[in-house]
Amino acid sequence: MKIICIGRNYADHARELGNQAPAEPVVFLKPQSAILSHKHPFYIPEWTQDVHHEIELVVKINRLGKTISESHASRYYDEVGLGIDFTARDIQTQLKAKGHPWERAKAFDGSAVVGQFMKLTDLGKEVQDLQFQLTNRGQVVQEGHTKDMLFSVDRLISEVSKFMTLKVGDLLFTGTPAGVAAVRPQDRLVGTLEGNDLLAVNIR
Ligand code: ZN
Repeated sequence: MKIICIGRNYADHARELGNQAPAEPVVFLKPQSAILSHKHPFYIPEWTQDVHHEIELVVKINRLGKTISESHASRYYDEVGLGIDFTARDIQTQLKAKGHPWERAKAFDGSAVVGQFMKLTDLGKEVQDLQFQLTNRGQVVQEGHTKDMLFSVDRLISEVSKFMTLKVGDLLFTGTPAGVAAVRPQDRLVGTLEGNDLLAVNIR
């Protein structure tokens, strides 16, 4: 399986990092080895001083597909959850300045926290009508609503599947809203989707 991630999919987050809203989706990958079960602690790697949390809606692909039209894209998923795209911001800033790929900053072990999934039918909501938030030590640090995505889930599936076959079990991280910040030892992050706590991770 692969983890497909979208950068800069919320205007307020693009702005907070000084980036323009993109004309087409910013796509990158994380390997399967990046997955951290939400039941395990996250250990800050010793080679970075600035790991940021990015809470994101995650869509689980449930059908094989290529060149999927936007109008058919909703047939390729029925479960959503939350994930954290941990990002070594100091390293990413250095890589961006050199025009290098982001993998050292985005694809390291534990950088993809994946929580529980729920069926959209159980949530009783459309995929572009979901509220989510991240708390740290009980304080809300990020809040988002999927209606604010620059590119909808169906548009993302259509765009990505133009150049990459989607397979059953692939995960699509759909971008983070504003409020990204560094994590520290003893932090506790909890992600909530429409009132359901879907992930919790302790920082070490
Ligand atoms: Zn992200």
